[in-house]
Amino acid sequence: MGVPCDPGRMGTANDRAPLAERVEQLLAEGGPLPLVTAGDPVLRRGGEPYDGQLGPALLARFVEALRVTMRAAPGVGLAAPQVGVGLRIAVIEDPAPVPEEVRVARGRVPLPFRVLVNPVYEPVGTARAAFYEGCLSVPGYQAVVARAAEVRLTGQDEHGRALDEVFHGWPARIVQHETDHLDGTLYLDRAETRSLATHQAVAEHWSQPTPERAARSLGFDLP
Ligand code: ZN
Repeated sequence: MGVPCDPGRMGTANDRAPLAERVEQLLAEGGPLPLVTAGDPVLRRGGEPYDGQLGPALLARFVEALRVTMRAAPGVGLAAPQVGVGLRIAVIEDPAPVPEEVRVARGRVPLPFRVLVNPVYEPVGTARAAFYEGCLSVPGYQAVVARAAEVRLTGQDEHGRALDEVFHGWPARIVQHETDHLDGTLYLDRAETRSLATHQAVAEHWSQPTPERAARSLGFDLP
């Protein structure tokens, strides 16, 4: 596979090969996987439920490749469609190397490495939290997204064990962002578009723990 940067090859027989074959091809190249970026239809198709399509050994190798790719980026989450694989699988991990005031304001606490298979989330309560976030598939930009402050996540882990857990703070944001990828949704679909900023502009103007000043200056609403 590895066609995300080569639009000329979209829709070839390669594209329709069984998923296991495509993942084998992807892993054969070794190292971090190439990232698919906004505009590629695979990001809008989302993923089909994982039901053993890869088999245990290939799934383990694929998950490891996702971890390597996420860390190399670096990112705090990565969904299979972001490497061109339409399966409902994502990895998350956040060492959260942030100052104390940011940790407190955003609830950004360390999140150990996890694999999410067929995840589904639902809000717990009505509280919303709005912060700048970005996406490895939309390089160079960030925008403010209001999301449920707390969610209940169900699904499985990479061993097929049932997952049923409540997340809050930054980990809740991460699991919503990654699960959305599996539904073909990008964070931009949920963003305050007037908040859109380059990484450089965020670093220059909007690195405060909360986006209140950005909301006043750029003209968007917060929950
Ligand atoms: Zn993303």
